[in-house]
Amino acid sequence: MKLYRIIRRPPFFLRSSYWMPKRENPVKSSPNARLPIIIPTLLIQYGSLKAKLIGFRTVVKSLWISLKEMYKSASQLKKSPEEGQKLIDAATLQELESYAKKLGISKIGYTKVNPDFIYRDFDILTDKVMILAMEMDRDAIKTNPSEKATKEIWRTYSVLGETVNKIAEFLRNKGYKCHPSPAIGGDIMTVPVAQDAGIGVVGKNGILIAPEFGPSMRLAAIFLDVDNLPIKTIEDNEHLWVRDFCETCNHCVKNCPGKAIYEETKIMKDGYPKFIDAEKCAPFFSKNCSKCISNCPFIMGNYYKIKETYFTR
Ligand code: SF4
Ligand code: SF4
Repeated sequence: MKLYRIIRRPPFFLRSSYWMPKRENPVKSSPNARLPIIIPTLLIQYGSLKAKLIGFRTVVKSLWISLKEMYKSASQLKKSPEEGQKLIDAATLQELESYAKKLGISKIGYTKVNPDFIYRDFDILTDKVMILAMEMDRDAIKTNPSEKATKEIWRTYSVLGETVNKIAEFLRNKGYKCHPSPAIGGDIMTVPVAQDAGIGVVGKNGILIAPEFGPSMRLAAIFLDVDNLPIKTIEDNEHLWVRDFCETCNHCVKNCPGKAIYEETKIMKDGYPKFIDAEKCAPFFSKNCSKCISNCPFIMGNYYKIKETYFTR
């Protein structure tokens, strides 16, 4: 019995659809949309008891914070103003971005969420989204597999959870309607949405790669009911060359101890790619593996050097 295939949704009181005010007209997922994989249930299913106990000790504090913030993100939806401001001026947008950066956000992008990327049966307040990327400490990540690297991953999840709620409060205080979606327990597939927003490109490891910090980041979102956000689309994304580069690299495929990363990315029935076999990955991920991040050449922050070398070969 595959527990992670049965438990595909968080409990009702942690879901934004339960707290969404009746007056709202939320955007729903498309019939094609995928169900989320709840990482803790995947980890419960796989790995030795010793690995689970060590893993639990490593992440318990961050997991607890993430769950509390997940509850806050959903339950405070009722605090959104009934009639939000629909326009944001340049000074307020700059103030918002400066505040986000002060809280530790490394990069911000805006796009419209494709309903295929909303998890199946999840609702979001609006399809206009502010995507937030938070860089992880690369020196800690490079030590993996280690407790230090795992702690850093889960620390970033929890800090991002706190951060989206602080930014949502900032926006509501200014009269905007918004819906924060944390890094753990969010409502959308943040990786393809962040790619649409131009933050980076999805590599063969299934992880977003950004020029500034490679794959060493976590993502969260705030759905923001404002009509004049500087929205980008996939057509604006200048990093798509990395997909061809991946075909010449394959470092993550070769160094994955679980042989979990497909050398030839699978295209599923819904037309979207599947990069990783989660069942093959889980036993190693539960033992602190994140080699697919640390073995990616872009983790060195040398995106432009790699690009130049690639195009002048
Ligand atoms: S976490 Fe480890 S096992 Fe899982 S895909 Fe990455 S490298 Fe492979
Ligand atoms: S390690 Fe290489 S193949 Fe894998 S995602 Fe990074 S660049 Fe692409």
